[in-house]
Amino acid sequence: MSGSKCSKLGGILLKQVLDSVDTVLFDCDGVIWRGDQVISGAADVINRLKEAGKRVFFVTNNSTKTRTMYAEKMAKMGFKVAEEEVFGTAYCCAIYLKNVCQLQGKKVYLIGNPAMAQELAAAGIQQTGEGPDLICGQQIDWANVPLDPDVKAVVVGFDQHFSYMKLNRALQYLIRQDCMFVGTNRDSRLPLEGGKAVPGTGCLLQAVETAAQQKAQTVGKPSKFMFESLALQFGVDRERCLMVGDRLDTDILLGSNCGLKTLLTLTGVSTLADAEAHEKSGCTERQKMVPDYYVDSIADLLPALQA
Ligand code: PLP
Ligand code: CA
Repeated sequence: MSGSKCSKLGGILLKQVLDSVDTVLFDCDGVIWRGDQVISGAADVINRLKEAGKRVFFVTNNSTKTRTMYAEKMAKMGFKVAEEEVFGTAYCCAIYLKNVCQLQGKKVYLIGNPAMAQELAAAGIQQTGEGPDLICGQQIDWANVPLDPDVKAVVVGFDQHFSYMKLNRALQYLIRQDCMFVGTNRDSRLPLEGGKAVPGTGCLLQAVETAAQQKAQTVGKPSKFMFESLALQFGVDRERCLMVGDRLDTDILLGSNCGLKTLLTLTGVSTLADAEAHEKSGCTERQKMVPDYYVDSIADLLPALQA
C-alpha cells in the first residue's frame, strides 16, 4: 500500500524483519493450508524457520480438532511440529475453563464437537450436550429432561448439530445465576473456494448470547487469551514475535492487541483493500487491524530462508 504503514515484505526488509524476531505465530486456515490443501511452500517455510533457530507456533480459531489431530494433519503435510506448539480453540477453551474458571472436576453444558469434548476430558472437565439431540433416531424432548444440577458453565464452539433445542437448553442453564458462559471464537463465516462460505461459530455464539441476553467470554483470536497462554508456557518476548495471518479482524487485531509485529498473507480472507479501508477510516480501533507488513503468500518468505 503506497504511503501507508503496511509495507510489502521482500528483499532487505524481509531479512531485517526475520532477523528482528525469534518467535513466529502462524494462523492456520488461509495461511498454511486452505481446508485440506496445503499452501504451496508452507512446509519449507516452517521447517526452515525452525532450522534457523526460530520458535514456531500455530494459533487457530478452528475448534474441531484437538492438538493431537492438528499435529497429525501437519505431519501429513510435511511440517515438523510438536503438538505442544499448536494452540487451537478446543485446547485453549479447555485450559481457560480449568485455569481461569477453576472448573477441573466439574461439568459444563457443551454446544461443540468431539474434539472439544476430548480436550475438556483431558483437562479433567466433564461435559453434557455434545452430539445430535437424538436417542435411537428419535428427537430428544429436552423440555421433559431436568437440567443437570452439576453444570457450572455453558460452552459454545463449532457444532454441526446446533439446534433450537440446544439453544433453548443453553438458555435454561444461563438463566441460573451462577452459570459461566464461554465461547471459542466469533468468526462469522468460514470461507470456501470460489467465493462460497458457510456460517462460522460466531453465528452460533451470537444466537446463544441473544437468547441469554449476555455476552460470552471468548478464548480465540482476537482475544489475548490464546497468546497469553502460549507466552506463559514458552516465555515469549513480544517485541521479537511476528504474528502471521490472513484475517485482519482476528489475526492482525490479536497481534496489535498483544504488541506483536504483524504480517498479512493474501492467500485467505482479507485483502489489501480491506487493510487500506481500515487505515483510511481515521478510527483508532479499525487502525489496529492494519498489519505492519504483507506478502502474497508465506512462500514469499523462502528467499530469506535459503541455506
Ligand atoms: N472455525 C472453524 C470451524 C473452521 O473450520 C475454521 C477454518 O477452517 C476456522 C474457525 C478458522 O480457522 P483459522 O483461525 O485457522 O483461520
Ligand atoms: Ca485464518
